[in-house]
Amino acid sequence: MITIKSKPQIDKMRENGRLLASCLHEVCDHVAAGVDTLSLDRLAEALIRKEGAIPAFKGYNGFPATICASINEEVVHGIPSKRRILSEGDILSIDIGLVKDGFYSDMATTVPVGEISQQAQHLLQVTKDSLWQGLEQVRIGNRLSDVSHAIGSFVESAGFYVVTEYVGHGIGRELHEDPQIPNFGPPGRGPRLRSGMVFAIEPMVKVDPEPTRVLDDGWTVVTATGGLAAHFEHTVALTDTGLEILTLGGEERRSG
Ligand code: MG
Repeated sequence: MITIKSKPQIDKMRENGRLLASCLHEVCDHVAAGVDTLSLDRLAEALIRKEGAIPAFKGYNGFPATICASINEEVVHGIPSKRRILSEGDILSIDIGLVKDGFYSDMATTVPVGEISQQAQHLLQVTKDSLWQGLEQVRIGNRLSDVSHAIGSFVESAGFYVVTEYVGHGIGRELHEDPQIPNFGPPGRGPRLRSGMVFAIEPMVKVDPEPTRVLDDGWTVVTATGGLAAHFEHTVALTDTGLEILTLGGEERRSG
C-alpha cells in the first residue's frame, strides 16, 4: 500500500531532504585522488549526527556504514574502506540516507575523481538526465510505470543499460515503502500518482547489458564485465502544486 503523506509530514521530509543534500554536497567536496572511502564515510556520519539525525543505512540489514561508496564497476552498496583509495579518473557513486523525527530521506550521486574518460562523462550525464526524465513524469494522474518507462527508454536510446535488479521505492516513516519503482518497462501501468505520495527515484545505469552480481562481501554489487556504472537518486514529493524535489542541493536549486 502506498502511504499518503500529509502536508506537515511533507514539510518534515523537506527539512530532512535539504539536510541530507547539504551533507552529501559537503562529502562530495572532499572527493579527490588519494582519499579513502572510509574517511568520506566518517565525514558523512559526523555531518548527519551534528544535525541531530541518524544515518539511515548504518545497521540496515546489517550494512556497516553511513554511505554506500561504489567505485567504477561497483554499481551500488559498496562498503567504505580505508583500503579503497580513490584514483584520478575514477567515478564514485555515493548513496546516503538519514532519519530524523521519524522520517527518512535518501539520495545518491556519482562524481568524477579529477579528469575522467569521455565514456565516463557520458555515462554520468545520461544517468543524471534519465533521473530528470523520470521526475518529469511524476505528475498527478500519471501511472507509476510512466516514470519507469521514461527512465528506461531514455537510457536505452543513449546506448546504455539500466540495472534491473534494484529499483526505486516509496519512502517516509520507512526507508523502503511501497511501491517498488523499476527503471524500465512499458508505460501506462501501475497505480495512478496522487498528491501526498513520496518516492525515491534512483536510476542505476551501466555500460554493459549483462546482469550484475554481488561480491563475496555480501553487499557490493558490480557489473558482470567490469564496465562502469553510475547512480543518481532524489527523494521527491507529489503535492497539489506538482512535483517537489526534497533532496535538491543549493547548487541544483540555483541552476534549476
Ligand atoms: Mg534509495
